[in-house]
Amino acid sequence: MENGTDMITNDFVQQARHIWRRRGRRLTPVRERLCAVIADQKCAFDAEKLWSEVRKHGLDISISGVYRALADLLDAGFLTEIHGAGGLRSFVISAGSANIYIVCKKCRKIVSIYDHCLDALAGKAGDLGFRTDGVSLQIQTECRSCPVEITGMAKESSWNGVV
Ligand SMILES: [Zn+2]
Repeated sequence: MENGTDMITNDFVQQARHIWRRRGRRLTPVRERLCAVIADQKCAFDAEKLWSEVRKHGLDISISGVYRALADLLDAGFLTEIHGAGGLRSFVISAGSANIYIVCKKCRKIVSIYDHCLDALAGKAGDLGFRTDGVSLQIQTECRSCPVEITGMAKESSWNGVV
């Protein structure tokens, strides 16, 4: 299992290296470590959470550096923005060009699934004269196993960003 995780991490870092090189920049050691931490995320994350996590790993990066890296990864399609998870801009590693993201709005756990209904939706957009380059759908939920109150995570008062 750990090998599988390492492969995902390495793959993500490799792809990030490629995209930054194509943009005439390079994957600095700091960005490489940041990408490895991103690849390890099991839940949707926001910039602040990521920043505090990378600093725990001893990484010397500013919050604006984190935002710049996230913007680049989002722009390259490596990350998908999740709306309504705790009312913050949250991100998750893209699972492909057509995916359904099931998001727990309490603990931010994400499960991504594919269903062929997405192709039908893309087809409908085509019928209406649009060219689509990706389809994603977010389902806002609460996991059954999530406790009523979670400390240290999104507070109840910030859960009103439900889509
Ligand atoms: Zn949950």
